[in-house]
Amino acid sequence: MSAPSRSRSKIPKAPAQPESGLAELRRLDHAHFWHPFTQMRDWCASEDDPLIIVSAQGAILTDAEGKDYIDGNSSIWTNIHGHRHPMIDAAIRDQLDRIAHCSALGFSNEPSILLAAKLVEIAPGDTLTRVFFTDDGSTAIECACRMAAQYRDRVGESERQEFIVFDGAYHGDTVGAASLGGISAFADMGGAKGYPIRRIGSIEELAAIDSSRVNAAVIEPLIQGAGGMRLWPYGMLRQLRDWCDEHGVFLILDEVMTGFGRTGRLFACDHELVVPDFLCLAKGLTGGYLPLAVTLTTERVFSAFLGDYDSLRTFFYGHSYCGNALGAAAALANLRIFEEENVIESLARKIEVLGQSLHEATTYCPHFGEIRHLGMIGAIDLIDIRSGSEFDWRRETGARVCRRARDYGLLTRPVRDTLVLMPPLCISEQQIRICVQALVDATNEILGNP
Ligand SMILES: *Cc1c(COP(=O)(O)O)cnc(C)c1O
Repeated sequence: MSAPSRSRSKIPKAPAQPESGLAELRRLDHAHFWHPFTQMRDWCASEDDPLIIVSAQGAILTDAEGKDYIDGNSSIWTNIHGHRHPMIDAAIRDQLDRIAHCSALGFSNEPSILLAAKLVEIAPGDTLTRVFFTDDGSTAIECACRMAAQYRDRVGESERQEFIVFDGAYHGDTVGAASLGGISAFADMGGAKGYPIRRIGSIEELAAIDSSRVNAAVIEPLIQGAGGMRLWPYGMLRQLRDWCDEHGVFLILDEVMTGFGRTGRLFACDHELVVPDFLCLAKGLTGGYLPLAVTLTTERVFSAFLGDYDSLRTFFYGHSYCGNALGAAAALANLRIFEEENVIESLARKIEVLGQSLHEATTYCPHFGEIRHLGMIGAIDLIDIRSGSEFDWRRETGARVCRRARDYGLLTRPVRDTLVLMPPLCISEQQIRICVQALVDATNEILGNP
């Protein structure tokens, strides 16, 4: 086994898997582990896979053979301050010495109480005062929709049933959340019925909608993630908020991807000073350590659920791990790091470097089409230089490029043929440049450098 490079890490790494066990781990993976969003026939046919990650430090992941890679997509958009951050590690260990989990059904716990209060303090505006805990992005969205639907029922507005959603949207994979999505490849819900929706492509289409039937508009603010890192025009979120206010419609913001600094502000809606009626947070909430999510809402919504027990106004909804203490402890530490390390302020220069490197890269790589950049999120569309348009998706060009980028020390995952960089916020300027260069080299190798 080659010695992993230690130069970047202050803390010694845990020993990697012994190499004798690696073949067996791969065999067992192929035999039993069904991976998400993965064509398992291809997965199991690949001999040098799976890449098994055994340890990490900061923005660096290390595999079972001791090879280091930059975590170019923050472990699918979750990691915030890097791996093994001493404050989050310590917070989880400390909580583990007390209790890992106890039900929030009938009981409460200190880290979840403190986290709820802290989230209310840092949330945009001053109207989001109630916090409901769930497990992941899908359930945070599910919870918001269910609350909005039951609210209309409780206040006698049950004609307001429709949810306005957008082409290219992604809000998760449970039936309710998936029914809001606008990506056709993910549309198969096995015949299950979701929420009644009105899908639109742009804000102009609101004009044609009978708003008296609309419950809420749901949107990924500023940028659609799984839809291909597509930016909304600046000012659109504000317009949507105004339209919702004018027509008595709720605004549900899905900040599952954009929350916790990704866009350069703590929340994407901070850019346009928009305050939603429901704010859904997940991926980065625990700094990328544990599955935990929240749905924040207002006193107005909360109070509609109050009443005598037999009035059945209770919000009948919840999950076994609601208010998980380990997750809440990690989330509190995640938020403390933002304050103690002035993380948002420290991003300005990195954001500049990311934008600059991406734009410079188009000079070195003829296959790079449109570049999109928002905060610490970068996206590059690959284009077929012979036709000037996008590749046939069946060729898996983006996936092949990202696969080759491994050889240049970068792990990331494309959205179809859009290359994505969304590194942990702790990444260095130098590492950002390495990521972009890795994508240039990998692309030129796969598609040729004429
Ligand atoms: C990832 C994601 C979700 C779903 O979150 P899960 O934790 O995977 O359930 C929802 N909305 C957005 C914008 C996301 O990026």
